[in-house]
Amino acid sequence: MNQKVIIFSAPSGSGKTTLVKHALEVVSELEFSISCTTRQPRGTEQHAVDYHFLSPEEFRQKISEDAFVEFEEVYTDKYYGTLKSEVEKIWNQGKVVIFDVDVKGGISLKKYFGEKALSIFIEPPSIAELERRLVSRNTDDAETIKTRVEKAEEELSYAKQFDIIVVNDNLDKAKEKIESLIKGFIGR
Ligand code: ADP
Ligand code: 5GP
Repeated sequence: MNQKVIIFSAPSGSGKTTLVKHALEVVSELEFSISCTTRQPRGTEQHAVDYHFLSPEEFRQKISEDAFVEFEEVYTDKYYGTLKSEVEKIWNQGKVVIFDVDVKGGISLKKYFGEKALSIFIEPPSIAELERRLVSRNTDDAETIKTRVEKAEEELSYAKQFDIIVVNDNLDKAKEKIESLIKGFIGR
């Protein structure tokens, strides 16, 4: 069976969510891997659609059961993890898994899946532009934006560990690029 995965990672504000959504719209073979998290749902987010929202106890239980391919404390006390069962479920449907994970998680997933994985790092044109996008997205307070911008500088240093870096400057060009990369990788 054709068991493949596509990994997307990026500093927050680079445009990763926008590009993952686009990939899901234009490549019908893809199915999004729903992660577990201990953070609270935001806005219209739904359990088992956007995330499996777990209590810290439930999350710890899954760690002890070795249920995760990888997990990270992405923000203080906020855990995120990729379930092995989620990947199996998607492969059993004959589909290709697409992951939206933080940079460390992306590197772990690539190590785990090896040749089965295409890992894509979405890079902002500059830190200043990343900050501008976070401000204009208008979903985070000034303190959160400051933390994310500081974290971005460290995350950018990991870009070379990915199979490919896509600079998200012009959005239409970035969309075209990821579409052709994914179609090339899955062989269509
Ligand atoms: P991430 O998931 O990486 O945090 P988002 O996809 O939420 O990023 O994008 C952050 C903000 O930047 C959003 O408001 C999005 O509409 C905007 N954005 C995404 N790509 C571009 C681009 N190429 N040029 C300008 N704005 C962009
Ligand atoms: P958010 O809280 O904004 O939905 O996500 C915060 C960060 O956690 C994003 O960078 C997102 O990609 C990452 N993330 C989501 N799911 C996982 C996961 O299963 N594992 C890891 N390592 N990171 C994840």
